Amino acid sequence: MTTIIKAEYEIDLALHRKDFKVNKIQDFCPLCHSTIKPIYRYAWMDSRGLQAVFECPKENCQKLFIAYYRPSTQDERSELETEYYYSSSEPIRVKKLDFSETIANISPQFCEIYNEAQIAEQRRLKNICGAGFRRALEFLIKDYLIHEKKDEKEEIENKSLLGCIEQYVDDPRIKECAKMPAWLSEGESHYYREWGDKDLNDLKVIIDLTVNWIESESLAKKIIKEELEPKKRKKRKKRKKEEKEEQKEKEKKEESDQDN
Ligand SMILES: [Zn+2]
Repeated sequence: MTTIIKAEYEIDLALHRKDFKVNKIQDFCPLCHSTIKPIYRYAWMDSRGLQAVFECPKENCQKLFIAYYRPSTQDERSELETEYYYSSSEPIRVKKLDFSETIANISPQFCEIYNEAQIAEQRRLKNICGAGFRRALEFLIKDYLIHEKKDEKEEIENKSLLGCIEQYVDDPRIKECAKMPAWLSEGESHYYREWGDKDLNDLKVIIDLTVNWIESESLAKKIIKEELEPKKRKKRKKRKKEEKEEQKEKEKKEESDQDN
């Protein structure tokens, strides 16, 4: 939505102030990540664009950040008469994602790489974050499979990511989604590929599905184990009792044999 920002600029060493039309004011704080209506504090305009200082209104934040606007292209301007388009904000405090204990125990490396990829994404480093999310997914799937099938460790390690999904993952949604991006099977060697927003979103959907799959599989296994454990214990107790009685019987028999 087009909005007005009052900005200062300089002509022949004299300061001026004027309203400028911008395409939007961001609705989130790059520092505390809350949804906000930022408080305007100051703006400066020069040939490179417009820089506007905002304050986060959240009580526990109240920090300042700068929103950068680029001059609009001719088409953009004729359409909406907007003079400046929002491009980014700084500084950014990266939001770290905390994974469940299950995921953190199975693949600490996945958690680390995923968060590094996220930093790259938030800093708009598309190529690095794409490769990072892909690597994170590979660690997650392979670490989980090795955790479950320790004797197939070497085979899993040497298999391609897509190969692992096809052979070992029994969730049909993950299998179906993993087939969509052709590049998933091609490894890091696909050096000429450009990462688009859709690729990134597809990849993140596959990661979400995989995290959910591993969590529900692990939970199901835990419940089954807890269900079976008391039964096993009961059986063991019964067996011990039987053994004791057998032993007693044997001793009695031996004693009576001796008496005779
Ligand atoms: Zn804030």
